[in-house]
Amino acid sequence: MADYDYDLFVIGAGSGGVRAARLTSLGGKRVAIAEEYRVGGTCVIQGCVPKKFMVMASEVSHDLHIAEGYGWSFDNAKFDWPTFLEAKDVEIARLSGIYAANLGKAGVDLVHGRAVFKDAHTVQILKKDGSVDREITADKILIATGGRPWVPEDMPGIEHAITSEQAFHLPELPKRILIAGGGYIAVEFAGIFAGLGVETTLIYRGPNILRGFDDDVRAHLAGEIEKRGIKVILGCQHESIEKTGTGLLNRLGNGMTLETDVVMFATGRIPYVKGLNLEKAGVELTEQGAIKVDGFSKTNVDNIWAIGDVTDRMNLTPVAIREAVAFHQTVFRDNPQAFDYEAVATAVFSQPPVGVVGLTENEARHSCPGEVDIYLTRFRPMKYAFTGSDERVLMKLVVDATSQKVVGVHIVGPEAPEMIQLAAIAVKAGLTKAQWDATCAVHPTMAEELVTLREKQHPGNMSAG
Ligand code: NDP
Repeated sequence: MADYDYDLFVIGAGSGGVRAARLTSLGGKRVAIAEEYRVGGTCVIQGCVPKKFMVMASEVSHDLHIAEGYGWSFDNAKFDWPTFLEAKDVEIARLSGIYAANLGKAGVDLVHGRAVFKDAHTVQILKKDGSVDREITADKILIATGGRPWVPEDMPGIEHAITSEQAFHLPELPKRILIAGGGYIAVEFAGIFAGLGVETTLIYRGPNILRGFDDDVRAHLAGEIEKRGIKVILGCQHESIEKTGTGLLNRLGNGMTLETDVVMFATGRIPYVKGLNLEKAGVELTEQGAIKVDGFSKTNVDNIWAIGDVTDRMNLTPVAIREAVAFHQTVFRDNPQAFDYEAVATAVFSQPPVGVVGLTENEARHSCPGEVDIYLTRFRPMKYAFTGSDERVLMKLVVDATSQKVVGVHIVGPEAPEMIQLAAIAVKAGLTKAQWDATCAVHPTMAEELVTLREKQHPGNMSAG
């Protein structure tokens, strides 16, 4: 074997890259990892973690409203955006520091700078001005550069819009915001801003938000977020943005104009491969621009692998981490492992939040050999009994009628993300509806509904889903 500087060089110190680097170094290999921005990647620095802090800050307004129903009063409840931003940034810096320290403890060399390919075994580390600082060789290279927000660059006035990356650092809280998109990020940030008292409009081109989710979930959530004060405009394109003396004027496809202070585009993310010089290493992309890999995360080049969002398989942090573990086992432990993407639970931190695992009703109807049984309930959570609120929880079980296995669970309501993590164990284990029912309820909880759903939906009272 040629004499390389490292056994493994990882490009990108996000959740996936850091896990692969640490495991491999702890296994006795010489490992380095390059990061051009801050250690921790999208999830820690400008994704899941700061987003969740924003959700928690925002939810307080709803909690205060509930509290008033219970007899509490708050004469002067106020939210201070700069105070929140500072606390959030301190915590994010702390977490990033822990990630960097853990790399050090595991013996991984951290290289600050942008790494680009020179050839299949050599990366160049670039200085801020783009000149080459140094070259590093490695036997194996792992690409874990994640994704970046995508916006329609040809839309007139798009330069006035922000993405989620800037939404984490707005110098002041706007009075009015327009959010374009109907996916995870759009729905989550609409909830955040509305909860913080911002007049919030969500505009989405499709017939309902969260395409790909169960139709009952989509319809239920759209109704619930409107109850929380978000104006939802569906089936409508965003045509242009103009800067005016008083804000940003949005022209919409339905002829409406709407002025806001901030416009945020949450129209998807794309694999971050720009400028990596992949062609110099011979690494191929898919038609959609993601790094093409096999089931073991290997690219078409023998010594190069890729994991996480840059491969655009299932763009979730815990999935990237599992792909990292499978990569490590396959490549360095002689134990080939391919991550199993079935029954991966996911949560949307909208307000109320969503938790889902397994098949939607539509998917089940297409993939189950026989009939599909649907169990569905909508109810008012006990906590809201004193508030006069008409907010409802949705719980839905999708059951393969032939095997009686519960193949899908869909929840919209408080604590749905916490509930779905546990429900996912049962779905992943392939438990039957009878086994769910044999589990005794915990009372009084919302989750007990999941083990007490006895009545199948009749075709006549089913939704379009
Ligand atoms: P999504 O892919 O979830 O949603 C993108 C949205 O933008 C869709 O509604 C899409 O519409 C719309 N869109 C795309 N192109 C255009 C266009 N040209 N004009 C108007 N609308 C457009 O992306 P997000 O950015 O919300 O999130 C990226 C990914 O990050 C997610 O898919 C998820 O994997 C991950 N993520 C996970 C989170 C979590 O686990 N809680 C939180 C945030 C992100 P259409 O549906 O019609 O294509």
